[in-house]
Formats: sequence, C-alpha cells, structure tokens
Amino acid sequence: MSLLTSVRRAVTSFGIVVLALLGGPASAQERPASVIPIVDVHFHYMPFMRPDALQERMQKNNIVLAISAGAIGGPAIGDPRTRDAEVLQLLGESYIPASGAGELYRAERAAGLSLFTDLQSPHRADALARLMEQKYAGRRAIPETFPNAENSSVDPLRRRRVPTDGPFFQELMKFAVQEKIPLPMHMEWHPDSVLQLGNLLRSFPDGVVVLSHCGKITVADDIRRFFEKHTNVYCDLGYRGAPLATQESTRDPNRMIYWPDGLFRKADIKPDWLKLITDFPDRFMMAIDDVHSWGQYDEVVAAIRFGVLDKLDKSTAEKVAYQNAINVYRLSPGILKKTDK
Ligand SMILES: [Zn+2]
Repeated sequence: MSLLTSVRRAVTSFGIVVLALLGGPASAQERPASVIPIVDVHFHYMPFMRPDALQERMQKNNIVLAISAGAIGGPAIGDPRTRDAEVLQLLGESYIPASGAGELYRAERAAGLSLFTDLQSPHRADALARLMEQKYAGRRAIPETFPNAENSSVDPLRRRRVPTDGPFFQELMKFAVQEKIPLPMHMEWHPDSVLQLGNLLRSFPDGVVVLSHCGKITVADDIRRFFEKHTNVYCDLGYRGAPLATQESTRDPNRMIYWPDGLFRKADIKPDWLKLITDFPDRFMMAIDDVHSWGQYDEVVAAIRFGVLDKLDKSTAEKVAYQNAINVYRLSPGILKKTDK
C-alpha cells in the first residue's frame, strides 16, 4: 500500500469515527428521555460539593429540584444544617433542605439503640424537638432514616436493626403526617422490618413512607407484594443503578437494576423492575443519592435518563421523572417552568 493510500484510508476511517461519534450522542440527545425535567427526591450534599457547582450541575442535567436526605457534615466543613442552609441560600426554590440530620445522628451516638426503643428517651425527645424546630422559609424535608442498615451502611453506628414501628418511628411519622411530608427510610428487607413497617403504615393511613433506594436487599417481587398491601408507600430509585450500585452488586447482583450505555452493554433496566414500574406508575421517583465526584453525578443522571426513563412510555416517564414527586412532596408545579425556555 502506498503512503498516499494509507493516508487516504486513515483520513476516511477517521472521518467515519468522527461521524460515528457525532451521530451517536446526537441521536441520543434527541430522545425525549434526554431532556425531560427530573426531580431528585433523595440527595446528599457531599463534602466535595459547593453550592455554585451544584447549581451548575443541576442546570446542565435539567434537575429542576433536589430534596435533601441530609447534607454530609463534619468538623472541617460544618454541620449538616449549616451546609444545607448554604445550598438553599443560592438555589432557593430548587432545593428543599432536611431538618435535624445532625441532631438525629448525635442523639443515636449518645443514646444507642434506646433512642429507638425506650418509651421515654430524653435524647429522642430533645433530637425530635430540634428537628421539628428547624424550618427554612416554610419548607423542609425529613432526612433519610435507617431502621435497618445492618448489612448496608458504611457507618458502623448504623449497622443495626431497630423496630420500624417502635416509639422513634411512631413519633416521627406523627410529625410527618402533621407536616404533610413523607418519611424516608433506608430499610433492608428483613421479615421483621417488613412486618413492622406494615404496622406503621396501617397505624398512620394518612402518613407516607418513601423507601430509599426501594429498600435495601430487595427484589421486584418483594416490593410488588408490599405495594399490593399498602397504598401509602413509595420508592425512590436512587443507588440502584450503575455506577453507584456497581460495587454492591458484586456481592449481591440484585442491587443493580438499571445502567447507562457502557463499553459492553446498552443502557437498560431489568425486566421485572420495568414491569413493576409500569404496573405501579404512581409509586416511583428518581434520586441521585450520594455521589463522590461531579463526573459520577453526570453518570448517575445518564443511567436514570437512558436506563429507566427512556424505557417507559411518555406518561409513565413524566410521572417517574417529576410528577409523582410533585404530588408526594406537594411541590409547586411552577418548578417545571424554568425548563420551558
Ligand atoms: Zn441516602
């Protein structure tokens, strides 16, 4: 082959590669799932984040509102309350801060399991009173709670199972009903926890529980059976997709239920979960949960858009992306307006 021929071939194949690169993502951009607004109902403001960078990322990804499940705090970066407040200051109506995340954590560290089980716990009374006091311009969320994280928390303090219908959750649920806001729970699907959650949901028919990441260690059939029994329970689909669930799914393949386009596979969702979402289109919402870089944030959004929303019909995709969140969290439909531009 002459030098000229090789150069021509190289140029041609380069052109094909360029066209493929341009053609691939461009056609993906035209899919409705790539532009639909998303409400993120379970978000942790992480130590590496700053409010202006979060705002930029949300705008870039068309995340119209984020609901805090508790900002991550620490001695060097500040209390969860202060950190959530600084995000609120910049993001305004695009952010709902969580109340009492730091107070609940410190109370558990001081009181241990008695925080959840003792009928009279001074630590609980104090922490819940502080949680109830914290209100930001009339809006707030209850932070993620951990009734059962015995095998699923990186934090040793939370690797325990406490009664989901015990005094702690009864009191918190009463508050949730009063405030008309949901109670988020990170709960492994242990039979005792499931039974106790059923009791709680029956005792508070006006209360709403959102299962963080649709429970932990759950399969679609578990949730189907539970949804059939209880109407006041919903799921967020945070931390069930790649890349966040990738590591967990090496131990338990059930953890990951959707994923974005990758080198060796196309974006998709497991069929039994797709069927569950299609059968219960009013019960699911999307969530980003905790990411460790902005690159990971973008990947999570890509998994949500192309692994989940793109696989649903238009009406279900709209419900799961934002409408269910508007209904469940009583948000103003005005949050969608900024996407009309
Ligand atoms: Zn979380």
